[in-house]
Amino acid sequence: MVHLTAISRSGSVTPSEEPTAAQAAAPAGASGPTLSVNDRPSLHKSLSQVKLSSYADEFTTSVYGSQFAGQDLPKHSMPAGAMPRDVAYHMIKDHLSLDNNPKLNLASFVTTYMEDEAEKLMTEAFSKNFIDYEEYPQSADIQNRCVNMIGDLFHAPHGGDSIGTSCIGSSEAIMLAVLAMKRRWKLRRQAEGKPTDRPNIIMSSAVQVCWEKAARYFEVEEKYVYCTETRYTIDPDEAVALIDENTIGIAAILGTTYTGHYEDVKGINDLLVEKGLDVPIHVDAASGGFVAPFVLPDLEWDFRLPQVVSINVSGHKYGLVYPGVGWVVWRSHEYLPQDLIFNINYLGAEQSSFTLNFSKGASQVIGQYYQFIRLGRRGYESIMSNLTRTADYLTDVLEKSLGFVIMSERQGQGLPLVAFRFKTAQEGGKQRHYDEFALAHHLRSRGWVVPAYTMAPHTNEMKMLRVVVREDFSKSRCDLLIHDIKLCVAMLENMDAETVRKQEEFIKEHIATHGKTKHQHRHHASKHYTGEEHSLQGKTGKTHAIC
Ligand SMILES: *Cc1c(COP(=O)(O)O)cnc(C)c1O
Repeated sequence: MVHLTAISRSGSVTPSEEPTAAQAAAPAGASGPTLSVNDRPSLHKSLSQVKLSSYADEFTTSVYGSQFAGQDLPKHSMPAGAMPRDVAYHMIKDHLSLDNNPKLNLASFVTTYMEDEAEKLMTEAFSKNFIDYEEYPQSADIQNRCVNMIGDLFHAPHGGDSIGTSCIGSSEAIMLAVLAMKRRWKLRRQAEGKPTDRPNIIMSSAVQVCWEKAARYFEVEEKYVYCTETRYTIDPDEAVALIDENTIGIAAILGTTYTGHYEDVKGINDLLVEKGLDVPIHVDAASGGFVAPFVLPDLEWDFRLPQVVSINVSGHKYGLVYPGVGWVVWRSHEYLPQDLIFNINYLGAEQSSFTLNFSKGASQVIGQYYQFIRLGRRGYESIMSNLTRTADYLTDVLEKSLGFVIMSERQGQGLPLVAFRFKTAQEGGKQRHYDEFALAHHLRSRGWVVPAYTMAPHTNEMKMLRVVVREDFSKSRCDLLIHDIKLCVAMLENMDAETVRKQEEFIKEHIATHGKTKHQHRHHASKHYTGEEHSLQGKTGKTHAIC
């Protein structure tokens, strides 16, 4: 991950950067102890005319009595001096307290709850570098066990003896799967004496951004099957019709990030078989891979289908592990070309490796193994069943009591999430002077993170809201959310159109989607990198769903 930071140097929140005459004239030594972390004016200095203490040993008081509590936290260069550890801890913790509460973050699929024992195991493994197989052979073994269990869960032909690897998330997993498909295609083309310069991949326009990245980074042309106003997934016929001799594979999503629909993997598979086209399918089961096997065990989407050659799943989504783990599994050796594998003799031990990263922590893999053996299939079944019930309950209330249009599936036919939007006037809804984005903003002021999106391209810029039902979103928390949705809609109803418009303008101008000031938000993308035009977002205005 490249962080493109561009923190403005004028970003200080101190009222004045210039020392006042009084400060400048203050005798040396009156400005407190020499522990100063930076040379900006601090409260201690600027108030030095008043009789306020500035004891040299002030760090023995509470954190908030120390000089550090009166200074800016360093932003642009590493401070010259040190600070006491408890002060550093509290200053950073306090700074982070303006982040949203992860439990109220209904935007993300990523795990926000693990048991104390899992946390303990993971904390104990913080200092282990997963890649040091020689030093930590047990951790490497635990990864292999997890790969086997996942392969078995997805009906890989070699079941409990599967080919795959852990990675940082589904994005890395998908990069690896794309590389494997591309290399296999290239080797075959070379053997046939045919050109290998124009590979392409087929996918739906509802793909997560990592597919666009994979295609662009590895120079594979993207061929899209566009969603429509009534179909939010890939159309198997259209997908298969796009195939040509340069197609390295078809991506199918088990649980799209917008509406949670499962794409028709079997439909694509059967068409390929029927037409005798040996084109591989990769299933992006980032979210659905740990849901469908438990809630819809008879749905055929995995290695039961002969054309499915590889599958990715995010351990940190419904795999129930904190962020930082994903998995990719191949049907068999045949689909992972030997020439992509590196056998590394690292610090004495031979291991084969196929990842984009090298060093990483071992905690996440260990956390995954904990969840697998602690919960077992029955545990996952119970959790996923509860999530499905909660999603159904929320769906019913939003539709029947609050009059929203539901865009997601019910009864476990898709991911446990609820995608919904206001009824349009044409659908019999009332004339409204506010939209889904306004509701999202008002919910945010109550602490809930319920994102609003513009749907995948070619869906007439349809707007929607989405609530992801995660393990820690219980029925009673769901009731609190429903209460607040009612409250916020009533509030919007009572506001006149002009106020709503002004408020939206203010939010757009000053507050980015993440509740930060415009200024702070600039951290995420330097001005050199805004306004790109190569992606689906750049070309069509699609906004990506958070996952
Ligand atoms: C979350 C998600 C990804 C990306 O996964 P990470 O684990 O966050 O890298 C890719 N595809 C889909 C469908 C997703 O939901």
